Amino acid sequence: MTKRTPISFEFFPPKTDAGAEKLRIVHQELQLLNPEFFSITYGAGGSTRERTLAAIDDFNGKGTPVAPHLSCIGDDKARIAELLDLYKVQGINRIVALRGDLPSGQVGLGELPYAQDLVRFIREHSGDHFHIEVAAYPEMHPQAENLDSDIQRFIEKVQAGANAGITQFFFNPDSYFYFIERLEQAGINIPVAPGIMPITNASNLIRFADGTGAEIPRWIRKQLQAYGDDSESIKAFGHEVVVKLCERLIAGGAPSLHFYSMNQIEPTRQLVVDLGLN
Ligand code: FAD
Repeated sequence: MTKRTPISFEFFPPKTDAGAEKLRIVHQELQLLNPEFFSITYGAGGSTRERTLAAIDDFNGKGTPVAPHLSCIGDDKARIAELLDLYKVQGINRIVALRGDLPSGQVGLGELPYAQDLVRFIREHSGDHFHIEVAAYPEMHPQAENLDSDIQRFIEKVQAGANAGITQFFFNPDSYFYFIERLEQAGINIPVAPGIMPITNASNLIRFADGTGAEIPRWIRKQLQAYGDDSESIKAFGHEVVVKLCERLIAGGAPSLHFYSMNQIEPTRQLVVDLGLN
């Protein structure tokens, strides 16, 4: 029997009590799919600090491990060290380490301007306690000069102590396979999980893609536009596209899949079930 590809799910911290209550239900339901971990995002400059901590409190110790995201831009070492110490006391041993993007209007890069600086700092401060995941961009980070330099930046994060990667979402599996090939050529063999974005809503998807530099292939964009307000057709088409993407990634050796759940049970659950990953 072939081994089931591991899965993980990402949440963002809810803004309201009602959102927090809803997320508890989402967590319970998605936990039934046996994920390896749930990760919880963290706004750059500490902008979601309290809400991220509240969500971690809600889910830590409830079966599946939680992995807080930690972003460094605009923050200082003392505040980051406090969080690292708190997570250690809480028994958390996995962190997603990011640079983050400064909220508009905020200036000053802080003491740790890049994710590689954060990874180095986590290792200096907490030794090997945390398993560190970092972001990867098969289609290039929007601020990178070119693909070569972006791949080199990823390698520097690994050299600074990262254990694994999670990618920005993408729909062209060749970009992922090429990225992995380039890492292997450089002697970097850490697992890099494709980040999977379910397709449910054309305008949201286009907005996310524009903000992150992810590319929506022309044929997908055109078909989504053709469906207009027909959300059932968008969901059915989106499901089929993402299932086929995941199948190709698994067949090509992706070590695990990380789903951007958008704090929803569906469509992530349906994708996982149809892929036979539960
Ligand atoms: P870095 O790896 O530091 O790279 C940022 C840019 O700087 C790249 O263009 C890189 O090529 C360049 N670069 C790196 N090092 C150097 C250097 N030494 N000199 C010059 N240039 C350099 N954001 C949040 O705010 N909170 C989150 O919780 C969050 N979660 C995410 C989870 C995943 C899986 C992903 C893929 C992204 C997430 N983001 C999150 C978004 C992320 O913070 C942004 O994409 C951000 O712009 C870059 O973060 P990074 O960690 O990739 O930065």
